Amino acid sequence: MNIPSAKCPSCGKLVTNVHFEEVNAEPGFFSQGGWRSIVYLCPNLQCRAVLSVQIDPIAIRTEICDHIDKEVSSLRNEVNRLGTIVAHLAQSMR
Ligand SMILES: [Zn+2]
Repeated sequence: MNIPSAKCPSCGKLVTNVHFEEVNAEPGFFSQGGWRSIVYLCPNLQCRAVLSVQIDPIAIRTEICDHIDKEVSSLRNEVNRLGTIVAHLAQSMR
C-alpha cells in the first residue's frame, strides 16, 4: 500500500480517505434534468472542502439495468403478441 501524500487544497491535511455525499448535477438554470452524482469531501470535519465530483456510477448502472429490463419486457410482450397472431393465422388456414 502506498504512503498517502495527497493533501487537501483547503486545509492542507493529508487525505487518507474521503467522505462522500449524493448530489444532483444539473446542466444549468435553463435546462431540465440532471444526473445523480457524488461529491467527495475532505474528511476533516472542520474543513469539508469539495475535492471532486463525479456521476454516481452505481446510480448509472441501476438506471441502465432498469432501462434494459423495461426494453426486454416490452420485447417479450411484443413477441407474445406476434405469437398469438401467428397462431390465429395458422388456425384459420387449416
Ligand atoms: Zn480539508
